[in-house]
This record gives sequence, structure tokens and C-alpha cells, in this order.
Amino acid sequence: MNCFFQDYRESLYKCTKPYQYVGGEFLSYNKDFDSVGCRIALAFPDKYEIGISNLGVRVLYEQINKQDDFMADRVYAPEPDYKLQLLYALESKVSIKEFDALGFSIQYELAYPTILKMLEMAQIPYRNEYRNDTDPIIFAGGPCCFNPLPMSDFIDCFIIGDGEDVILEFCETLKKTKGLPRKERLIELSKIEGCWIKGISKSVTKRVAQLTYDSAPTSYPIPYSNSVQDRAVVEIRRGCGRMCRFCQPGHVTLPVRERPGEDIVKIAKELVGNTGYDEYSLLSLSSNDYSNIKEVIKELAVDFNDKKISVSLPSQRIDGFNLELANLVQSVRKSTMTLAPEAGSQRLRNVIKKNISEEQILDAALTLYENGWSRIKLYFIAGLPTETLEDMDEMAELLSKIKYEAKRIKQEKGLKHGFDLTCTLSIFVPKPFTPFQWTPQMNLDKVSEHIKYLKSKTDHLKGVKINYHEKYVSQIEAVLTRGDDSLCKYIEELYKQSCYLDAWSEHFDRKVWQETAEKCGLSLADLAEKEYSTNDDLPWEFVNIGVNKSWFVDEYNKAFCQNKDFVIQPTCENKCVSCGVCSSLTTKKVMAKPFVISEAAKNTKELVPHTINSDMSYIDEVVHKYRVKITKLGTLRYFSHLDWQNTFLKALSRTGLKVGYSHGFNPLMKVSMGVALPLFIESKTELIDIDLLEDISRK
Ligand code: SF4
Repeated sequence: MNCFFQDYRESLYKCTKPYQYVGGEFLSYNKDFDSVGCRIALAFPDKYEIGISNLGVRVLYEQINKQDDFMADRVYAPEPDYKLQLLYALESKVSIKEFDALGFSIQYELAYPTILKMLEMAQIPYRNEYRNDTDPIIFAGGPCCFNPLPMSDFIDCFIIGDGEDVILEFCETLKKTKGLPRKERLIELSKIEGCWIKGISKSVTKRVAQLTYDSAPTSYPIPYSNSVQDRAVVEIRRGCGRMCRFCQPGHVTLPVRERPGEDIVKIAKELVGNTGYDEYSLLSLSSNDYSNIKEVIKELAVDFNDKKISVSLPSQRIDGFNLELANLVQSVRKSTMTLAPEAGSQRLRNVIKKNISEEQILDAALTLYENGWSRIKLYFIAGLPTETLEDMDEMAELLSKIKYEAKRIKQEKGLKHGFDLTCTLSIFVPKPFTPFQWTPQMNLDKVSEHIKYLKSKTDHLKGVKINYHEKYVSQIEAVLTRGDDSLCKYIEELYKQSCYLDAWSEHFDRKVWQETAEKCGLSLADLAEKEYSTNDDLPWEFVNIGVNKSWFVDEYNKAFCQNKDFVIQPTCENKCVSCGVCSSLTTKKVMAKPFVISEAAKNTKELVPHTINSDMSYIDEVVHKYRVKITKLGTLRYFSHLDWQNTFLKALSRTGLKVGYSHGFNPLMKVSMGVALPLFIESKTELIDIDLLEDISRK
């Protein structure tokens, strides 16, 4: 370790975010590399700040490390300003090349060239065929692996579906086959259900795991820095029974499996206690579809509201929209609410099987306005199959209606606040394993025309903002997600053109992606706009996700015969629609039993959104002021003042002391730190003032 800090001293001093490369995060395992039978490096092909909070990696990290004889370490894609000699794992500082296996979590297609670059940094041949017996086995999992073909020249083994059980079988096999020739080891790995290896496996069936208490991580490495999704996360439900026709996660994660309410409460309390986060998220593709959502939040509020620990739900269903739930979510911290109508016209919502009416959208938006929200976010998809300018007209009309009705309510009820709508448009990408897998992506010029038209129709609406995603990225995603193994050459060329961390706009250069495609004899537009016939053999059909092809064909045909009237189309959410998953994978939908809340939760005073000064309880309490002296030495010199401060606040929260909070929409701990210490500077005495609502002088 000392040797590491000597070797990398200069590189660490020269880069902007050295904390990403030093490890030592609170709750990391730091197992001894030499005393275990199987060592896995879990890699995330993006920056540390994204990868550190990825739930899939957290689950695997915990599953592997819980076993005495296995270890998992982590590695993230270093930023270009960090000069590396050899890619190493964060905790052990051992070169990646020394591990038994290196596993990538692939969340988005733009990360493909980054994976090749990381292999180069680790001095591991990036093509499968050039690896020898001493190189680690390279495996991958995550959403992109449902179509493994575009990366099949680079990854030895793909794990398809839920990883928590299969990863242990994978480690066991690696341990048992140590010392055998690489080919023999791969043959053994291919025998594990859910593993696919090019040239060895013919087909593969996805793995389905149950959401047990034991497989949920209740602690994981806590970054010193702020990260994306910097909060405790509890997965409450996997799979989504809504079956929206454009949505790949909704189909590939079937059947729906819910975690028991008792387990969620227990996991959330342990997680918050262990990590010190002041926010927890109840994660699911559609959180308010979870059977006991209100009960679970109420039960947790008994413990959490006083400690100012807030809850977040990633999305709110419009048809399942409920003011009580919205208030529960906002009872500690108030944030912007997001609604996802996805399409602006009723006809198009029928095409994608969104199952929501215009009335429901208006009702949800205006209920939020009436109850104090002054801004909401709305998500739409542009370029959906069959979309025309008429649909954009209807989207503009919908936004106008919301604004008009909000104005009417404002006058009627004498409200003081305005109502801003921030609309984000993503561009439709046809995905494998959805009923739209056969459809072409809309031509980019045409999508631009539609967005321009929408903007011109909404320009006059004050407080309506239209944002949209980079269209060329959507085109590349459409090409790669439906690609076959002829695209391996393209990805290799992109890597050779130095494409790295291209999911970041500052690194993404569309000209390079475009020109490299042309050099490889490919037309991105032609591939993205390719239309398949339902009789075609699709490249990814050797992967069995359980849904019958005939069911997809049926859904595809239904999509194209929708009219303007609102119709509720049947989905798995209400009643089995025989998609085939449960019978072909011998599994079933698991709904949580009703969760009975405690007396304390029943007696919790009604939770309403905070308005400024609505909770003045702090004012009545006696405040005890304490001055704390702490040091900032050693590894801590690599953390900025802000990161160090965040780390201190999490640690303070873990002590369980009754800390005072500020008032208002976003209560903050009453803690003041001295003058900011510059990065790389150590200190033997830093002073911190803390307001406590208890006297600890005799403790
Ligand atoms: S088979 Fe029925 S219950 Fe099972 S996932 Fe499909 S629709 Fe849902």
C-alpha cells in the first residue's frame, strides 16, 4: 500500500479528483488478496462517481465478499488526467491482470469502446482469441448483455439475467478449474445456467432470482465524494407488469417479484444505520405499483422523519398517482415531482400501451399544483412508431391545457405560486425483446422536425421548457442494441480511434462514430432505420428471456391498429396475459403479502409537505453547542473540503446523536466547519461546531 502511494504520488497530485483512485471507502471489505480461493475484479466502464452507486455492482460485491473464500474488489474507468502505469483494483491495489476474473457491468452501449480501453490499461488482450491461460476470464452482465453479440469478440462469458445466484456458481467454477487450460475452464463456465460463451454455447436462458433478505446489500462502500444517486437504495420490486411496448427493462425482468414489506423496513433501517445517508430510495421500475408502498413509507417515517431522513421514489405512475403518497415522499424534503406520460396524444399512448388518459395526466399535474408544487418534470419520447405532426400538436395542446387549468385554479383559490413544466424528450430507440424490436428508428431529420414543430407550438407558453436528448447518441444506441457480431469490428475501430468515456458529452464526438462506421462500411442511419419482418430470424433470438415470440408478434400487431379513443389494454399488472415467462422459466409472479403497520406508524401525525416554518419543533428545544477537534491526515489529503465535509456529516449521522437541523424545504444539519483546507494539504487540528439537541457532556 505504501508502495502504491509512493508510486502514484505524482499522478495523484496531478489529477483533479484523486479520491477516485485511492480506495479505503468506509464499509469496503479490503480482503486479503493472497488468502482466498477466487478473486473477482468488478469493473464499471464509466467514471467512479457513476459506478460507485450502481446497485447491480453493490449486490454482486456483497454476495461475493460474504463468502469466506471469495473476494471482490472494484475498478472504475480512470479519467484521462490520471496517468496510470497499470490498471489496478481499488482496495487491494493489485494489478487487474492478477485476478481470476474481471467482470464488467454494462449499462449502456456507448460504454463499449471504454471496456476495450480498460482491458488495454490492464495489459490484457482486448480480443478473446489472443488471451492465454494466465489472463483473467473476462465476463459481463447488465442490461446490454441481453444482446451480447456486438461485444462477443471481447467478452469471454456473458451472464444473462439476475446475477445474485449465478455469480456464486461462477466463482465456485473458477475456483475448481484453476490451473486448467482456458478453453476447458470456459467449457465448464458455459454449463452454468445463464452463462453464454461465443463458440461454445448455442443458446442461453436468462436467470431469475428471488428477492430475498439475504441477497439485499445492507452495507456497501460509501464514497467520500458526492456521487450520482448518493443515497441508500432498497430494491422493493423487480420486473414491471405494465408491459409498455417500447420498454426493454419491463420485458426482460419479468416476472414481477416483490419484496416483503417487513424485509424492506428492516433493510432500509440497517442500510441507513450503516451508511449514514440522509436519504433512501425505494427502487423499482414503477415504485408506486409496489403493493405496500404507503404502509412501508409510513412505517419507516416513525424512525426516519425526526432524523430528517427522506425517501425518494424514482418515478410516479400517473394512473396510480396518489396525493397521500406524494405527500409522504415529500414529508422531509421537498423536491421536483416527475410524471411520465411518454406520449402527448391519446392515440400514441394507445400505440405504446401506456394505459393512461389525458384526464389522468391533467388530474395528477393539477393536484400537485394545488398542493403546493410550483414545478414538475414531464417525460416524453419523440419519434415513437407512427408518430406524426398531429401527435406533436396534441402534446402542445396537453401542455397548454395544464398551464391554462393551473392559471384558473390559481385565480379561483388565490394561490401565490406559479407552475413551471420542464419537459424532457428522449428519442425512441427500438430495443430487442420488446414488441417494437422489429420497427425502424425514425429518421433523425424527421425527429428533429417533430421536436422543432413542438417547440414552435409551445413557444408562447410561459414557464414551459422543452429539453431533448442528443439525437446522434440515440441513433448509435439503436445500431448497437440491435446489432450482430459484425459490429465487433466497428467497436474495435472506435477504441482504436481513442473513443473513451463517450457517455459524457465532453468526450463524445459524433464525427468519430460516424466516420469510423463509414470506414467499416456501415451506415448508422441504415442500421438504425432497418425494419425487420416478424418472420425474420433476429440476431439475438438465441437468448431466451421467457416471453414467447408469438406474444411479441401479437403485441406488435396490436400496436399498429390503435385509434384515438382511450382504451385500457390488458397487462400482467392486473391479470396474467400469458406472455410465456412463468411457464417457460418455471417461475411465477410474487406479490408481497399485505403489510400491517405498527401502532406507532398508525399514530404518526399526518404527514404533509413542509412549507417554510411549518415545523418549528427545533425552536422549542434546548440547543447544546459543541466544538469538535479533528485531524485530516494521510489518505484524507486527497479529498476536497466539500467531500471531507460530506464524509464527516455521514459519520455524524451514523453516531445516532440528536443533531439539530435547519428549517425549510431542505433541512440541513447545523454543523459549521472552519475555513476550507486546500486539496492535498493535511491538518492536525480542524475545528467543527455542531448543534446537538441533547446534552452529551456526561456521556
Ligand atoms: S406469464 Fe403471466 S404472470 Fe407470468 S409474467 Fe407473463 S403475464 Fe405475468
